[in-house]
Amino acid sequence: MKICVKCQIELRAHENGIVALSMATFGPYELYLADIWRCPQCGWQGIFSNADPFSARHQDADFESVLDKAERTQTVVRFWLNQNEKGGSYLGCYSCYA
Ligand SMILES: [Zn+2]
Repeated sequence: MKICVKCQIELRAHENGIVALSMATFGPYELYLADIWRCPQCGWQGIFSNADPFSARHQDADFESVLDKAERTQTVVRFWLNQNEKGGSYLGCYSCYA
């Protein structure tokens, strides 16, 4: 169940099968398969993903090709931890610093 807090109306599926791409200081970090939902009243849009915990990570051998294919065939929405640090939010990858 997905509801717009402001309008108290259920969200509607707007676009299925998009990619949400988390961004780290060094660039693309994790790729999640997701859907865009939209409030039919006010137009608010949100991205929801059930990918657990991710569909592809930057250290995967085929990450570049998976991301490249997604950029060509799907809507890709990049996201950051917060607006102030847009362009570099997640400090890094534990796997890379191990
Ligand atoms: Zn609304």
